[in-house]
Amino acid sequence: MAILIHGGKLVDPVRNRVEERDLLIEGERIAKILPSGAFLEAGPRLKKIDARNRLVVPGLVDMHVHLREPGYEHKETIATGSLSGVAGGFTALACMPNTNPVNDRGAVTGFILGRAKEVNLCRIYPIAAISRGQRGETLTDFDELRRAGAVGVSDDGRPVEKRELMRQAMELGRSLGLAVISHCEDLSLSEGGVMHEGAVSARLGLRGIPAASEELMVRREISLAQETGFPVHIAHVSTAGSVEWIRRAKEDGIPVTAETAPHYFSLDHRAVEEYNTCAKMNPPLRGPEDVEAIKKGLAEGVIDVIATDHAPHSQAEKNVAFESAPFGIVGLETAVPLTLGLIREGILSWPEAVRRLSYAPATLLGVAGGVPAEGAAADLAILDPEYSYVVKAEGMRSKGKNSPFIGWSMKGINVMTMVGGRIVWEREL
Ligand SMILES: [Zn+2]
Repeated sequence: MAILIHGGKLVDPVRNRVEERDLLIEGERIAKILPSGAFLEAGPRLKKIDARNRLVVPGLVDMHVHLREPGYEHKETIATGSLSGVAGGFTALACMPNTNPVNDRGAVTGFILGRAKEVNLCRIYPIAAISRGQRGETLTDFDELRRAGAVGVSDDGRPVEKRELMRQAMELGRSLGLAVISHCEDLSLSEGGVMHEGAVSARLGLRGIPAASEELMVRREISLAQETGFPVHIAHVSTAGSVEWIRRAKEDGIPVTAETAPHYFSLDHRAVEEYNTCAKMNPPLRGPEDVEAIKKGLAEGVIDVIATDHAPHSQAEKNVAFESAPFGIVGLETAVPLTLGLIREGILSWPEAVRRLSYAPATLLGVAGGVPAEGAAADLAILDPEYSYVVKAEGMRSKGKNSPFIGWSMKGINVMTMVGGRIVWEREL
């Protein structure tokens, strides 16, 4: 049966518009987009979805997620991660390779895609490792990984320390159409650090990770991209200095793109003051001036993408002393309300926000998405921007409850997710 989504405001991040539109979904695709009300008299055999007072957006695409399977199924699985994703409004997730085994072979990429097909909730795009075992020594077989279904490469969780290896990765990635994603960290500066190096780390007596640890590597990747002309994407930008380097690189026409995560524009290092291990991630929460720079970078388009860096851990793993806790927080189910906060602050318009959450990451990965047009796959989310609620651990679909936003009052939520014309998530408000 065809589906009619009526009465909502359609956000088009490509044409930069928000308009009242009805969408007719037939099979896997958007068959028609017409002005509001055009279908209501006609359609006799339609399932109707009332989207009044809501926004219809192209399904969100998260290009930086840790699904933990294979190997760390006690933290998350492809099934629970996908459920968390569709609950949050995401119709596609790109999963990082730091699993066990590492996704450094076509067989592991194939396993992930096989599980994703069984789970059958959202689209899963594997990011394979740049180096064997993510050890930074020898390149993986990019062609084999691409043929197995990888859309990008990254050693995320660790930097690629050897310049020559990164240069080769960028060259091969370019020739094979794989996005090359850099986790920027100078380990000699960050080693032993557990939070941002600054006034708070000094007061708490915790070892800091200086902003320069990230920024030096951002500079290195920019100079490699400049020298070779091969594109590079900078993961999880957290500092004002990184934003500034990327801004200048873009002005100079260097092929660099960048992402940040909602926690870097929503929280600063003061969140660590209670030794809350759910405020521990890498890169760490930075200073208030960094938060302002990230927001400005998003507003000006210096930062292309909002990705969650969803990194689930078990309660037992996080429920230890701050120094011993693993890095990372969950993010799939709070990305929408936190990004809506930027819209309310006037930092991003609706189309700009949705572009950073859908069209831009899809384009970077070379996958479909982010384009709400007739004939496009019906990957959609319906958002209620006014719904107010308190974030609760037990409401989260992810296995990981390690969120610093638990207990926060939020406004705005995803109420329906459709993937390829199939409703995979609905929330009763
Ligand atoms: Zn990373």
